[in-house]
Amino acid sequence: MTFENTAEFARQLDASDPLASYRDQFHFPALEGQQVIYFTGNSLGLQPKRTAAFVEEIMKDWRELAVEGHFYADKPWWDYHERLAGPLSRVVGAKPSEITVMNTLTVNLHLLMVSFYRPSAKRYKILCEEKAFPSDQYMFQSQIRYHGLEVSDTLVEVRKREGEHHWRTEDVLAKIDEVGDELALVLLGGVNYYNGQVFDMEAITRAGKAAGAYVGWDLAHAVGNVELALHEWDVDFAAWCSYKYMNSGPGNASGVYIHERYHGRTDIPRFEGWWGTKKETRFLMQPAFDPMENADAWQISNAPVLALAPYLASLEMFEEVGMPALIAKRNLIVSYLEFILREIGKEVGSVFEIITPEARGTQLSVFLHGEGRSLFDYLMQQGVITDWREPNVIRLAPAPFYCSFEDMYRFGQILKKGIQKT
Ligand SMILES: *Cc1c(COP(=O)(O)O)cnc(C)c1O
Repeated sequence: MTFENTAEFARQLDASDPLASYRDQFHFPALEGQQVIYFTGNSLGLQPKRTAAFVEEIMKDWRELAVEGHFYADKPWWDYHERLAGPLSRVVGAKPSEITVMNTLTVNLHLLMVSFYRPSAKRYKILCEEKAFPSDQYMFQSQIRYHGLEVSDTLVEVRKREGEHHWRTEDVLAKIDEVGDELALVLLGGVNYYNGQVFDMEAITRAGKAAGAYVGWDLAHAVGNVELALHEWDVDFAAWCSYKYMNSGPGNASGVYIHERYHGRTDIPRFEGWWGTKKETRFLMQPAFDPMENADAWQISNAPVLALAPYLASLEMFEEVGMPALIAKRNLIVSYLEFILREIGKEVGSVFEIITPEARGTQLSVFLHGEGRSLFDYLMQQGVITDWREPNVIRLAPAPFYCSFEDMYRFGQILKKGIQKT
């Protein structure tokens, strides 16, 4: 398709967008009465309009049924989390039995490390990408110290090449090969939060497993954004938060995937609690742990139903639309945004550079040369909500659920003015 940097062309794209009607199903913040251009769905997704009713349902059941809500609410609370497994399994490419929802992302990664990071004298190293998301780095460092090991000797980081902004798959594979039989765990972000790169999860998983390591993925920036086939790729485990592209609300619950081959095993350690025991016997309050036969065995506490309600509302929308349609729109809107950036670059001189590689989802990271910070401030003042990452990067993530092509056009015009001004 030949794009044009005009309002008319952008409106035509909106008119033929099969997801266009979803834009009205989200609450947008406004600045001086004008709806903002929202590029931070990779940080906190917008609130779907239907979410409040899902939360109110729980509030009402609590008001009217109190403790009886556990079993007699329309959506009983005691197994409320099970409603999320089916829809989530279709978002991440897994079997419903391989999905559970609990806690928050970093907590879940720690819990999964209990099962999947068990260093031995010979096999103890962890491979990740350099400059992983800070929470993941702290998680790795504290886990390594907890096992009495040295971080510098244990954590192996794959670096980008000098002068390049992305990681090369061949370099990740070579590193896996190099560490070989010392490698205990490969755990990377499926989509890097900084440059928006999508890692070749299938190839890296295959290589990590061939080396005899466990392979897990932090899917914070991948879930609801890129195509995932966790089961088919033979991924051992994964976890993600739900407040980025999944639109479930600030700090909300995390999803977990655990390959079915680990279900029902007694030789894998796990931190346990009563929500991981068999439902049939849970309330007999027996001292022996009798695990669920699926990923729910990793559940510890009774489910935070008020938090799961917005997640369920969001998943209903993912079910309606499906990942293929979201990905189709994503490809078009990101390409259009890239085109707009390049057009503006031609008009005003290239003061910025897109550092996101071809393998991308819905995020473009743009390196601003020169007065980046003041340009960022100008954009925010004009109602363009984006985010700033040191030293000089703005991240633009047009979420396909609710961003329009006209937003991209308008953004281009504001950007141009901003560059000319600052
Ligand atoms: C957003 C994000 C997190 C956030 O972790 P929480 O435990 O939900 O606060 C962790 N890791 C990555 C890669 C992220 O992008």
